[in-house]
Formats: sequence, structure tokens, C-alpha cells
Amino acid sequence: MDMSNSKTTRLYYEDSHRISFAAEILDCRPSEKEKGVWEVTLDQTAFYPEGGGQLADHGILGGAKVVHVMEKDGEVLHITESPLEKGSLVEGTVDWSRRLSLMQQHTGEHILSGIVHKLYGYENVGFHMGAEGVTVDFDGEISPGDMPKLERLANQAIWANLPVCAAYPSEEERERMAYRSKKELTGLVRIVSIEDIDQCACCGVHVRRTGEVGALKIVSCQKHKGGVRLGLQIGGGALEHYGRLLDSVAQISNLLSAKQGEVAQAVERLQEEAVSLRQKLAASRREAFEAKAASLPEGQQVLCLMEGPGLTPVELRQYCTSLFGRAKAAAVFSGDDAQGYKYAFGSGLLDIRPYGKQLNIALQGRGGGGADCVQGSVSASRAKIGEFFQNLSID
Ligand SMILES: [Zn+2]
Repeated sequence: MDMSNSKTTRLYYEDSHRISFAAEILDCRPSEKEKGVWEVTLDQTAFYPEGGGQLADHGILGGAKVVHVMEKDGEVLHITESPLEKGSLVEGTVDWSRRLSLMQQHTGEHILSGIVHKLYGYENVGFHMGAEGVTVDFDGEISPGDMPKLERLANQAIWANLPVCAAYPSEEERERMAYRSKKELTGLVRIVSIEDIDQCACCGVHVRRTGEVGALKIVSCQKHKGGVRLGLQIGGGALEHYGRLLDSVAQISNLLSAKQGEVAQAVERLQEEAVSLRQKLAASRREAFEAKAASLPEGQQVLCLMEGPGLTPVELRQYCTSLFGRAKAAAVFSGDDAQGYKYAFGSGLLDIRPYGKQLNIALQGRGGGGADCVQGSVSASRAKIGEFFQNLSID
């Protein structure tokens, strides 16, 4: 970050809790990149521009909505939805709930990264903040079994309510310091320190004391590019996340008539029941099919049986094979006119494949298989299928 040519005093570095301020409009021009928004520069601002993994503030400036704030050529550009008069004095108000949430997430990430760095020596090599929470990438593997310990240490640091301090030490002072940094830094470097938990070069805004972070929950741990990616819920975000999960568990608990702590066992029982019902259904379908097949006269040329939707490819093949003794060729279809039909078409006496091709052409189907049985699907109606088999001659 180069602030040497900036005309704007950055109030957010003086006090991260200052949300209202007065400023003079130095410039206001329509955005070249986007229609209907303006780029505004001020003599001073409490609006933090996107940077260092931290998202931009939103808020109101002289009655205009500030929808984004960014750095460009060392300047802070406020993107507003309406123009403001150059030279005028305006009031600015930062959306505090958004700012606090961003600071909680950012400071929480410092705490966890500092702890990981001390315990394993790993660097934070990626940081993303979004509506779904925070992800942070480390350049070494951490066992999922270590997560409870990391989480406990992070929350102990939060509840110890330690001061979060920013300073600009000289190059000589920095040489004697151990601090985390993503790159080699020269010139003015801002070091953010949380007592013995973390020292890090950072241009973001942070809470005053760690207690403001509230809580940190590690919600996922995945291997990522030779290291790990941790999913985090921090501060107010953690509370909202908990609320969403609780709603979901409450709904499941009601649906299953099970206590909230016992929904997993209830789902297991439901799965076992479903397996047993599927087996019973398959057995009774097979019985019904066999009864139907037994009622058909033997010695026919071609047999075609239509079944309702839901037969599996394995069932279709079994049913088809069970008809081989009654006809030269046999087909079984499962489905309805709306969804289309799956089929198995086979013969115990001849190569069925050429007839399978005819079927696919006539009934807009696809599929194939071996000499004894071909399987696939068609998008023709029941009537068209019946017509095809009535006209089919098997030699
Ligand atoms: Zn930071």
C-alpha cells in the first residue's frame, strides 16, 4: 500500500470504531467502468477500502449510498449511487454492523493464523471473506483431530480480551521482530500485534480488543494444495450460522418426532426401514410379474409387457430373461408416456441386436447390449410401442 501521494486522511487507522465524520468532496466523476455510479474522493474518510482480504465498508455519504470503496493509485475511491458536489462539505456514516462483522472476521483470522504459525510454523497463504463465512488456507497439513485444540486456544485468546495494536516500527526494529508477512516489505510497514498470540504485517482494520471478536468456530477442514483450507464462522457470523443450523435441526426433529440430539439415530432407522421396504416392494413386484408371465400362452413369436415406472435396469433384465421360455423374443418396458420408458429386449434363441436397432430407430430410443439382451430407453408413447411390436417380424 502506497499512501505517499494520497490526499485523503484515513480516519479508520486512527480509530476503527469511528463511523461518522465530516469531509470535503475533493472530486466526483462518473465511473468509467460502471454506469449509474460515481467515484468520489474526500479530504478524509472513515470508509475502509477493500484490501488485504478485508471487504469494503458500505454506508451513506452526504445522502448518497456508498456501495463500494476501493483503492486506486493510492487514492480512496468511494463508489456512490448519486453524484455529490465538488467542494461541498458532507457527513459520512459507515454501516457499523457490516464493519463490526468484517473486523470480527478479520481479527479472528489473525488470532487463528498466529496460533497455527506458533504451533506448526505454517503460513496463512489464502484468506477469503464472504457471505458464507471465512476460509483460510495454510501451507501445511493439519489433522482434523487438532481442530478442537486450535479452536479452544483461539477462543481463550478472544475471551482474554487482549488489546489489538497497530504500529509502524522502523526497519531496524522490524529486523529484530518476528512477524507474519505474505511478502518482503520495505518502507513504512504497519504491524498489527495481539500480545504473544500474533504479530502480522497488515493494512486492514481490526477490533480494539480481542473480546469484541466474540467467538470463533472451525466448521470445516479440507486438504488443499499440499496444506489445509479451514472454514471459519466468527463473531456475529458464528451466531447467525448457529441460528441457521438450529432452525434446520428443529425442522428435522419435528419431521422425525425425535429429540434434537437424536436426529441422526432417527435418520438411521428411517434408512433401514427404507431399505427393507424397497426389498419388500421388489419382491412383490416380482411376484406380480411372474403371475402375469405365467398367464401368457407359450410358443409366441414376440412378447411385450408394459410395467409402471420405477423398475431398475437389473429388474428389467431379470423380468425379460424370465420370459425367454415363452417366446422367441421378449421385451419389458417400465415407465409412462410423460416420462418415457426404460426397456430390456432379449432372446434365448437368436441375436437380438439388429432388432434392438430397429426398436431404437422406430421409437426414438437409445441403448444397446449383448446378443441375448439389449437395454435402454425410448421417448415414444405406450401406443407406439405396442404398434412397433405388433408389426415386428422375427425370423
Ligand atoms: Zn489484519
